[in-house]
Amino acid sequence: MGFRPYIYRLAIKHKLIGEVDNRTNGVLINVEGDEKEIIGFCNEILENAPQASRIKSIEKKRIPVNGYHKFSISGSKSTDNQITEISPDIAVCTDCLDDLDHDTERINYPFINCTNCGPRFTIIEDLPYDRNKTSMRDFAMCLTCTSEYNDILDRRFHAQPVACNKCGPAYTLTDSEKKLSGIEEILIEVSKRINEGKSVAVKGIGGYQLICNALDNKAIIELRRKKHRDSKPFAVMFRDISAVKEYCYLNKAEENEINSWRRPIVILKQREKMSESLNSGLGSIGAILPYLPLHYLLFRKLDTPAIIFTSGNISDEPIIIDDLSAESLLMQVTGSVVCNTRGIVNRTDDSVVRIVDNKISLIRRSRGYVPEPVDLSCNVDGIIALGAEQKSSFCIGKEMLAIMSQHIGDLKNLPTYDFFIESIDRFSSLFRFKPKLIACDLHPDYLSTRHAEMLEKQLHIPIVRVQHHHAHIASVMAENQLDEKVIGVIMDGTGYGTDGNIWGSEFMVADLNEFTRHSHFDYIPMPGGDKAVDEPWRMAFSFLYKYFGNSIDLKKTSAFQSVRKKDIVLVKEMIDKRINTPLTSGAGRMFDAVSAVLGLCPVSGFDSEAPMRLESVIASTTEDHYPFDIGERVVFAKMFKAIIDDLPKVDTSLISVKFHNTIARAVLEVSERIRRETSLNKIVLSGGVFQNKYLLEKTTQLLIEKYFEVFTNHLVPANDGGISLGQLIIASKMKSLCV
Ligand SMILES: [Zn+2]
Ligand SMILES: [Zn+2]
Repeated sequence: MGFRPYIYRLAIKHKLIGEVDNRTNGVLINVEGDEKEIIGFCNEILENAPQASRIKSIEKKRIPVNGYHKFSISGSKSTDNQITEISPDIAVCTDCLDDLDHDTERINYPFINCTNCGPRFTIIEDLPYDRNKTSMRDFAMCLTCTSEYNDILDRRFHAQPVACNKCGPAYTLTDSEKKLSGIEEILIEVSKRINEGKSVAVKGIGGYQLICNALDNKAIIELRRKKHRDSKPFAVMFRDISAVKEYCYLNKAEENEINSWRRPIVILKQREKMSESLNSGLGSIGAILPYLPLHYLLFRKLDTPAIIFTSGNISDEPIIIDDLSAESLLMQVTGSVVCNTRGIVNRTDDSVVRIVDNKISLIRRSRGYVPEPVDLSCNVDGIIALGAEQKSSFCIGKEMLAIMSQHIGDLKNLPTYDFFIESIDRFSSLFRFKPKLIACDLHPDYLSTRHAEMLEKQLHIPIVRVQHHHAHIASVMAENQLDEKVIGVIMDGTGYGTDGNIWGSEFMVADLNEFTRHSHFDYIPMPGGDKAVDEPWRMAFSFLYKYFGNSIDLKKTSAFQSVRKKDIVLVKEMIDKRINTPLTSGAGRMFDAVSAVLGLCPVSGFDSEAPMRLESVIASTTEDHYPFDIGERVVFAKMFKAIIDDLPKVDTSLISVKFHNTIARAVLEVSERIRRETSLNKIVLSGGVFQNKYLLEKTTQLLIEKYFEVFTNHLVPANDGGISLGQLIIASKMKSLCV
C-alpha cells in the first residue's frame, strides 16, 4: 500500500542512494549516503509510515558499499505478493482533509484520497490492483490527476482511486421533488433535513447508511418505525473526539481505537444522556468518528454534533449497495437519497469493536479489517471453512495465511445467503483460490453445512465437520499460533453437540486434532427451542422449575408479571412432556434467565438484549459471588435460590455483579480441577458470552492470579463470526485427506 514509494520519497529527502525491494518476508532497503542522514532516515521510517502499513520490526545491518548511482524501486512483483497486498479501506487522512481547503482541484471534493487513505477492498474487482480492475475504471484521470499519479515524489503516486472535482465521481441527491448535483447544494439540503428532524440515506464506502439527528428523539422514533427496527441500539457518529468525550467515557485504548485509520464503531460507556430511543437505556453507545471526506464536509454544516449512523437496509437484510435498490427501498424510509457514481464492488458494514482489558475485542469484523489475513504457523492452502449460521463469515486458506470474509449476517435470511454465495465466488477469484478441502460445522441443518455438502458433491472434495465449540477454541489457538493441548473454556449461546444436545458452556481439553469434553454447565430444558432465545422468561421458568419443581413461587420475581398465565402453563407442559424442548447447556441461556428473573428483560427486542441489560446494570463492585456445585457438571441450583432470596431487598446491580462473579469463579474452579488432572496451564477463552466486558475481565483476572496463561480473541470475533478461522485450522490437520 504505497510503502515502497514512501521509502523512495524518504530516501530522496535524506539525499540517499540505493534501492527498496519487496520480499515475501518483508521489505529490504539498501541505502548509501551521509551517516547522519541515514540515522535520520531510519528514525523516520516508523514515525511517518503510511497509517495502514504493518511494521512488525526493523532490523538494521551495516554492509559494504554497493556503488549505487541513484535511489530506485526494484523487485518484480509475483501474484502471490499482490494477494497479501489487498488493503482494507482506510479512513481519509489528515493531509487529504487539509487539501479539501487548499488543493485547487479538490476544494470540498468528497472523494479525495491518496496512497495513505481511501477505498481499497470495497472497489476491487480483480487483481492486480490497478485502476482498470476497480470501480474507478469508468473515470478517466484528468491531466492534473495523471501527473500526480505518475510522479513518484507525489503523495498520490499510484493511488488507484485518485480523482478530483474535474474528473472523478460525484454525488447526487434525489427526493420526491428534485434532483440535486453539486456538493455544496447537496450538503445544504442534507443538513437542512437533519436539522429539521428528517432522515437521509447516504451512499458510503461499503454500502448505504441512514442518518438523522442523534439528539432528536422524534427523528429517531420515526426512523425506527420506517426501518422496522424496534429497539436495537443505533450507532452514533460524532463530529469529533471532543463530542465523543462529552457523551461517552473513554480511556486511552478506546480513544486510539476510535481514532484509528480503521475507524470502527467502538462500544463506549455512556456519560451524558442522549435521546431515549437511541439505545433504550442500555448505558452504552456504539460511537464512531467521521471517516469519509463527505462526513467531515457534512459536519461543517450540521447544527448537531452527533448523528445516528446505521446500515441502510430493511430489518436484517444485508446493507444495500446498489443505487436502484437504494432509490426504491431507502427512499421509502427517508424520503431522500444521496447516491454517487462510484460503484461498490464488495459490500462491507461498519466494524464494531470493544476494548476489553485494554485490548481490542472484535464484535463485527468488516470495513477496515477485511481482507487483512491472519498469519498462521501452519499451511492451510486450499481449505475453505464455511463458518456457522448466525453472524456468518467464511475463511479461505492461502499457504500460511487465513483470509476471512467480511461479516455476512444470518444465513437464514435469503438475501444474506445470496451475499454469502456471492462473496465466496468473489474471494475465490480475487485470491486465485481453488478449494481442495471444505470445513463446516457439525450442525446438520446450518445453511453453511448444506452449502458445504453441495460443494462436496459438485467438486468431489472431502469435507471436515468441526464441533462448534472446538472451532471456537481453535480460533484463539490460530490467532496465537498455538499448536498443543490446552484447556478450552467456551461460554456461548448455542452450538450443536456430539450428543445431539445444544452445547454452550464447555470445559474442554483440546488441541487442533481433537477435544474431550471435561465438563459443562447443567443441561436445562429450552421450551420452544429458538422461541426461548427470544423470550428469556421461558428460560427463567425452566431454571426455576428444574431446581425447585412445583414449589416455585413465581411472584418472587417480576419475570412473569407481563406473561399470560396460560403461556406459563403451556411452557410447563412442554417441559414435562418434552415437546419442542431441546436440552441446552448454553451459558447465554443462563444469562437470559437471570436477566429475566431480575425483571430486566423478560422478552428480548433484539439479539443478546437480555445479557446486555444484565451487564449494563453493573455499577457496584464486590468480590462476592453466589454458591454453586461442581460435580460431573456445574450446577447452579444454589445460586438461583440465593438470587431469589436476595429479591427484592438487594439491589439489582449488586445481584448482577455477584452473578457475573459466580460464572468467573466457576470457570476458575473447573479450570483448576482440569489443571490438576492434566498439568495443562495454557487456557483459551472464547464464545459469544465472552463479549461481556465485565465477565471476560473478571475471569481473566482470576485465572491470572492463579498463574494460568490466558489466551483470547483479538483478530477475529469471539462470537460465531470467528468460527470459520477455527474450522480452517482444524481442517488443516486433516490435510492427509487432500488428493
Ligand atoms: Zn490521503
Ligand atoms: Zn482529476
